[in-house]
Amino acid sequence: MNYLEIKKILPKGVNLLAVSKGFKSSDIEYMQSLGQIDFGESKVQEAMQKPVFQIDNNLIWHFIGRIQTNKIRKIVKHFDFIHSVDSYKKLLKISEVAIELQKIPNVFIQVKLAKDPEKAGFSYAELMANWDQIKQIKGIKINGLMTINPKGLNAESNLELFNKCRLIADNLELPDCSMGMSNDWEEAIKAGSTWIRLGSLIFGQRYS
Ligand SMILES: *Cc1c(COP(=O)(O)O)cnc(C)c1O
Repeated sequence: MNYLEIKKILPKGVNLLAVSKGFKSSDIEYMQSLGQIDFGESKVQEAMQKPVFQIDNNLIWHFIGRIQTNKIRKIVKHFDFIHSVDSYKKLLKISEVAIELQKIPNVFIQVKLAKDPEKAGFSYAELMANWDQIKQIKGIKINGLMTINPKGLNAESNLELFNKCRLIADNLELPDCSMGMSNDWEEAIKAGSTWIRLGSLIFGQRYS
């Protein structure tokens, strides 16, 4: 399926984030010409090197990578959505910077629902233990939860983890779940994802 075919079958309420990490400015502009507005990058420096990122063009930028604390200022300044906040400390720092810069970032809290040494994120227990404090953080809008499933799971296991994420979000009265990538987006939609994050499926193979 290509970009336009995927767009056509997306249920109402499911947004497509075009993950442009590893792709060029010209690839992003091509997607823009097809009507895509939301783009995701996982490294601040890589994003800032792309001319399309620097110009005022009504595109909406989402940060989806591992957050280094010393990059938080740049992330808040240049991105409208942050999908990958994996600690309470970083939430506080994002809040502090956001208030200073007078921006209200849309934040997703990254949760880790299966053992995966490659992935960061709040465990369910950590999220619950911190939730009352998290809710009170000023200057940010907590849209929902984000999750990345471990590599190599079958469709059934992917669906199970996505269902778990959706259930936790519902219990916390959070509207959004950022979940689903090129190889598991269909299960994510079944589970109630509101943001699928697609890179290679729509752009093709990455350069880097
Ligand atoms: C790279 C990446 C994606 C997109 O991956 P594809 O498999 O190319 O669709 C989605 N989410 C995150 C957090 C990523 O780092």
